[in-house]
Amino acid sequence: MRLNVAQLLKEPIGSNRIYDVDGETSGGSEEDIRSLRGQVALMRTDKGILLTTTLDAETVLACARCLNQFEYRMTLNIKEEYFATVDISSGHRLPPPDEPGAFTIDARHNIDLNEAVRQYLLMALPLKPLCGENCAGLCPSCGKNLNESPCDCEKDSADYVKISPSPKRKGGS
Ligand SMILES: [Zn+2]
Ligand SMILES: [Zn+2]
Repeated sequence: MRLNVAQLLKEPIGSNRIYDVDGETSGGSEEDIRSLRGQVALMRTDKGILLTTTLDAETVLACARCLNQFEYRMTLNIKEEYFATVDISSGHRLPPPDEPGAFTIDARHNIDLNEAVRQYLLMALPLKPLCGENCAGLCPSCGKNLNESPCDCEKDSADYVKISPSPKRKGGS
């Protein structure tokens, strides 16, 4: 999702804009995001634009136990300053921001929200996503999804082990 901030850059420091994000089709480049909703607040700073937003994101994850895909909702609280790379009045290139990896406003005065969303999404994703707290997982013997129905494996045999949510790996490479 791109926002053109050319007009806002011409305004005095502290000027604001509010945009609605309702992104079933927010560019389509974010393959993991089903929908993105919320409001984006932009404020002119001395070096660029401060973006503040709380977005409700919906994505599809694979359950760590049963491997089924399920919809996962999360809230992304994003606050980032986007630095201008071109002076809005003179058109001259500006020196790059001091911080490495800082977000920038492109030469056409667009803010690209996608990269920030991607980074915040990665931080918000659970390490072990579960389709539900009581997910029964897959049978360790036959691999059947036990959420759908029990399998015919012997459940009382001693070697029946419930799938551990945290498989341990011994040794290193
Ligand atoms: Zn599951
Ligand atoms: Zn089984």
